[in-house]
Amino acid sequence: DVMLTEKGFVQKEELTYPFEERGLQFGDGVYEVIRIYEGRYYLLKEHVERLYRSMAAIKIYPPFSEADLYDYLDQLLKKNGVVSDAKLYLQVTRGSAPRNHEFPLNTGANLYAYVKDFSRNTDLMRNGINTITLEDIRWEWCYIKSLNLLPNVIAKQEAKENDAQEAILHKNGLVTEGSSSNAYLVRNGKVYTHPATKRILGGCVRMKIEELCNRHQIPFIEEAFQVEDIAYADEVFMTSSTAEILPVLKVDTVTVGDGEPGRITRELQRLYEEDAGIRTEK
Ligand code: PLP
Repeated sequence: DVMLTEKGFVQKEELTYPFEERGLQFGDGVYEVIRIYEGRYYLLKEHVERLYRSMAAIKIYPPFSEADLYDYLDQLLKKNGVVSDAKLYLQVTRGSAPRNHEFPLNTGANLYAYVKDFSRNTDLMRNGINTITLEDIRWEWCYIKSLNLLPNVIAKQEAKENDAQEAILHKNGLVTEGSSSNAYLVRNGKVYTHPATKRILGGCVRMKIEELCNRHQIPFIEEAFQVEDIAYADEVFMTSSTAEILPVLKVDTVTVGDGEPGRITRELQRLYEEDAGIRTEK
């Protein structure tokens, strides 16, 4: 496997992290996960733009131009001979320097990226998932895709220990998003989701869902819903680049709608596959 680093392309086995890497010691960095279908990036521009917004928000000055980055990412796929479904993980940290909270002087940001084969989990897409709800204890800048994922990691583990696949987070009862996904409620043919404020990560798939809804006359309403509203929902679904669009069958002990993946969720899955050029065997 070939990885991209600030020293250029290296074999994955050759990469070592300096102990005093700020990404490790402070979580001082940002990242992206980008989906690849049949060897082609999907929503690449949206992810790169978000990466730049995340870096700007925490004052990381990238040691590469946007054009260079696109070129590196292109080369990374070629060097790894990626032709099937995969995902790219990319992170930019503030660099390596003696441990000190202040930003280091004369230290450049570090870029790391690698690609990994990854097949679509069509079982979950077809059959849906169970979820739990948890208080959203994260900070107020969740729009930054930061490396500080401890609350997300703990929430996901809590879901797993309760035989659920995702945790739906809420602030005082108002649903923000999932531990690694955005959350939506469907009622009377309308899709509701938390507005893209600083309290949530504005998902690239969320942007696509908004576009698909607008294009197909499905009302897309950026209004946060309550955990209590789920009892009266027709459908609930979650989205992310990795998982795509997952129907939610259960939230805690509440069965969503009739307990089957909903009509709008299925329609959006179909439109999403079409948009991404995903071929499905029928
Ligand atoms: N919200 C959180 C907290 C996430 O970690 C993610 C992705 O992992 C998302 C939302 C979905 O973002 P995207 O659609 O860009 O993958």
